[in-house]
Amino acid sequence: MDKIIEFSKHVQFTLGDSVLEIIYLLASALFILGLKKLSHPDTAKRGNTLAALGMIIAIIGTLFLHRYHGHKIGNLGYIFTAIALGTAFGWVVARRVKMTKMPELVSFFNGMGGAAAALISLMEFPYISKELIAKYGMLNWQALVIFLGLVIGSVSFAGSMIAYGKLDGFIKDIRTKILRVINIIILLIIITFIAFLMTRGQIDPVILKPYVYLLLAISLLYGVLFVMPIGGADMPVVISLLNSFTGVAAAMGGFLYNNLVMLTGGILVGSAGTILTILMCKAMNRSLFNVIIGAFGGGGAAIETEQGSIKEISITDAAVLLSYSHKVMVVPGYGLAVAQAQHLAHELDKLLEDKDVEVKYAIHPVAGRMPGHMNVLLAEADVPYEKLLESDEANSEMQNVDVVVVIGANDVVNPAAEEDPTSPIYGMPIVKTLKAKNVIVMKRGMGKGYAAIENNLFYHEKTRMLFGNAKDSLQKIISEVKNI
Ligand code: NDP
Repeated sequence: MDKIIEFSKHVQFTLGDSVLEIIYLLASALFILGLKKLSHPDTAKRGNTLAALGMIIAIIGTLFLHRYHGHKIGNLGYIFTAIALGTAFGWVVARRVKMTKMPELVSFFNGMGGAAAALISLMEFPYISKELIAKYGMLNWQALVIFLGLVIGSVSFAGSMIAYGKLDGFIKDIRTKILRVINIIILLIIITFIAFLMTRGQIDPVILKPYVYLLLAISLLYGVLFVMPIGGADMPVVISLLNSFTGVAAAMGGFLYNNLVMLTGGILVGSAGTILTILMCKAMNRSLFNVIIGAFGGGGAAIETEQGSIKEISITDAAVLLSYSHKVMVVPGYGLAVAQAQHLAHELDKLLEDKDVEVKYAIHPVAGRMPGHMNVLLAEADVPYEKLLESDEANSEMQNVDVVVVIGANDVVNPAAEEDPTSPIYGMPIVKTLKAKNVIVMKRGMGKGYAAIENNLFYHEKTRMLFGNAKDSLQKIISEVKNI
């Protein structure tokens, strides 16, 4: 495989290089096919397997055939040990994690991707080519790629860890305007610092060491402080953005090692994350700049308007109301995931359909704790995809709906987003449950949602509260509906 084939005077390659190119092409095709299949619940599992297969062949090909500056990869024993340990850890964690903790796990894994990209930069900066520095009289593209990988990777790592903490609830938002000003200053320092390093003339990589570690420390600090003030309804946008950062940081590694599959993988993750960020911004009616620079809405607690009293509904009354409706709209939220009540929601929906009640689901883009959370949950329960409506579509059908059943949702149905300019979620599109004739809200008590604000929907005259764990309440309603 190492025999040199001369293609022309300038282009020489070994048979190993050609095989590797083909492997990379195949792996890239598998990534793209995998991504395509991930876009539908029926094919998502297969898509994941295909993309993983692409990654396996890309890793094997790289380890045995890739050459960097003419050298094959050494230390294979260490590398395979690290892969085995990482695989075992990932396998155990992924198998043991509760479905409700999935968003935290996704954030954690994203952070690990960022950390890996930053580590590549830390490993590689001592090898910045002295010849090239001498030739150009300054640091070259190789150094720039290393610095960018370091900064973006460590911001992604530190930011994802804070996002993990926020999703888990052990880190709270710090919403002060001063932090946002500090963040802008730190960002400007990072950019200036890179420009300073890049124009230092014939700097020796050894002298660079303290500067690189300083850049790492500033970037980690920025990652922490950048996510810290972002809260409530802005978190989904930030999570998608961190996702794209990890992809871009990995792509830097691809440039550095001249490794096409790493570049393709990084670009795919980076662009998928960017598209998701744009979609999330659109769904939340926000610009990205606004999310990063300004607090959502007023940034404080919502004005506590006159709330009146709440009205409860009994299981029997709820079952009767649902059974004699023509059209029912289910609005699932994070509480449905916590209760793991998706299978029962589908069972109730089938029972009602048997009674000629049309049942649909209104899916808000940020319901739950990760993009697509409700889609994943309902797909797991085999709810047909056609029954899921995006919130806009659901809202346009809402006036014909007899009963809206809100299951463990709160922020995504909070009218304050439309009515109260001082609310932290003001401007966020919501599922407009109050356009329907009746609203039943299933939740355990008067607990707040992720944005930690009051919800006047619960006090509205159209609303009836059904308190209890969503799984228990659904189970009881199902028994009643069966007897009607
Ligand atoms: P919320 O977090 O607003 O509300 C969930 C509600 O579920 C709570 O009020 C809680 O009330 C109830 N609940 C919890 N457990 C149960 C249970 N076992 N049975 C019944 N009810 C239960 O959820 P939404 O889905 O409406 O909104 C999502 C929020 O999360 C938005 O603010 C969004 O911005 C944010 N977010 C979304 C992300 C994403 O990517 N989708 C990422 C990060 C944040 P009670 O305690 O009274 O039962």
